[in-house]
Amino acid sequence: MDEVFIQDPEVGRSIFQEIDRQTGGLELIASENFVSTAVRQTQGSVLTHKYAEGYPGKRYYGGCEYVDVTETIAIERAKEIFGAEYVNVQPHSGSQANMAAYYAIANAGDTVLGMDLSHGGHLTHGSPVNFSGRFFDVKAYGVNRETGRIDYDNVLELAKEHKPAVIIAGASAYPREIDFAKFRAIADEVGAKLFVDMAHIAGLVAAGLHNSPVPHAHVTTTTTHKTLRGPRGGMILSNEDLGKKLNSQIFPGIQGGPLMHVIAAKAVAFGEALRPEYKVYQKQVLANAKTLGQALLDEGFDLVSGGTDNHLLLIDLTNKDITGKDAQLALDKAGITTNKNTVPFETRSPFVTSGIRIGTPALTSRGMKEADMQQVAAWMIDALKHIDNDAYLADIHKQVTAFARQFPLFAW
Ligand code: PLP
Repeated sequence: MDEVFIQDPEVGRSIFQEIDRQTGGLELIASENFVSTAVRQTQGSVLTHKYAEGYPGKRYYGGCEYVDVTETIAIERAKEIFGAEYVNVQPHSGSQANMAAYYAIANAGDTVLGMDLSHGGHLTHGSPVNFSGRFFDVKAYGVNRETGRIDYDNVLELAKEHKPAVIIAGASAYPREIDFAKFRAIADEVGAKLFVDMAHIAGLVAAGLHNSPVPHAHVTTTTTHKTLRGPRGGMILSNEDLGKKLNSQIFPGIQGGPLMHVIAAKAVAFGEALRPEYKVYQKQVLANAKTLGQALLDEGFDLVSGGTDNHLLLIDLTNKDITGKDAQLALDKAGITTNKNTVPFETRSPFVTSGIRIGTPALTSRGMKEADMQQVAAWMIDALKHIDNDAYLADIHKQVTAFARQFPLFAW
């Protein structure tokens, strides 16, 4: 890192400030995590220099003999982790993995049934502002108003009514376990393909702590940077039958040269996921989320669905008369990073929202446990009681920073 500070102090300073922010704050964004030093260094390696269009053994460039090894390791490790017949580690992002998955199993104009964005779905699951909403005829399912959980009977009803070519399961803000076998039964009943986006829960699936979509879905996609704790990127898993189609949808379909430095970092992260301590980490992610949730419930906070089965919590602040936007701002001032989030049956705009989403993957990577979550919850609650008092929030920030610095960021 030293070179950037010497050669380009302007950019160097912004990186230094970000290091300071990450080490001195509490990262509660559910989709973020901290990678190991090995993953980070691999991503910064000389592999960034290499063009390698194509796939291992079938490249359009010379000099690919070593990156072929790297990519093969990533593929084989992912197959082992998830029990998949086919894996593509080249998607630059989760969104690109999703685009390739759609194009492999659907045609423009087909009907697609996905989870409503404001009920926890992702933009790529059919939002009108996303390619998915523009290229497909999208119908949406959501959660039950009383339980906050996916209503599978309603999904079946909608599937029977609209006869989608593809049903999408998976979410960005759904705190409960998803029943992928049920989704597959619904898809089979109406002759649809099941596409699961496990981006948020992939680390839990890898550790065997959430049922796996891979045996049920025709195509499964994921990001590699959330609970999975790898570098920023995407991945596709499926069976051999669809493999050829999926490969060609990624390259030459929607991408050019793969990011070999990122693929190498994915390989290193997958190596970490195969070690016994990974399961210990993921169990702690779950225990921490439960503890945080209970502490918030005890103070009268309303959690969508009443709690969590996974790494995230969706707090509905309606009963506290605070908007998600104001809560996020106040927590930022206290050194606690979260994101405002719509809640099911949202009445406010996505720029304001009635909720915030929090998650425990990042803090758990720093080594925090249940007792630490009690402390984090206490600061959150205190900050939300004083959202208009900047001096008070600044004082919490000082305490938060002193606490956070006790947990080294890159410890394993
Ligand atoms: N799928 C889900 C469920 C997500 O939550 C996200 C990102 O938050 C994505 C896909 C998109 O990933 P990316 O930001 O890498 O495009």
